[in-house]
Amino acid sequence: MYTITCNMCTKEFQHKFEHTKACSDTCRKQRRDETYGFKKRTMPNLVVGKYHELKVVMDLVEKQYDVYPAMFPQALCDLIVVSRKTKQLLRIEVKTGYRSKITNHVISPGVEKQKGFHDVLAIAIRSTNEVIYRDKKGKDIDLGV
Ligand SMILES: [Zn+2]
Repeated sequence: MYTITCNMCTKEFQHKFEHTKACSDTCRKQRRDETYGFKKRTMPNLVVGKYHELKVVMDLVEKQYDVYPAMFPQALCDLIVVSRKTKQLLRIEVKTGYRSKITNHVISPGVEKQKGFHDVLAIAIRSTNEVIYRDKKGKDIDLGV
């Protein structure tokens, strides 16, 4: 048995699987909703992906970038952007994530394994409407205005 701190309510509990994250059905459901969730039931996955991509696009437009989206889903990255100020060009991959209410960390399923063709990973956070940017080493970066 492992002693685990519940990701949702922070209560300690015992479980036979080391990587279990939630202590109860209620916490498990809440965690699932926050992680994969609440949009899934109202929007098909493809729409959710596009919705978050558009959030990132609008954020980058506000930050003075020209944005060139990929024409087809199998493209090597989602967006190419060019800074209007520095003329720097960046390849951007868009992911969705959420910010844990407990730890305040940004969690984006599968992101750690992401070794794509991008320079910058843009994570659109569902619960707070923020967009955060990370370099290929996973460090938060500021694409600034
Ligand atoms: Zn719990």
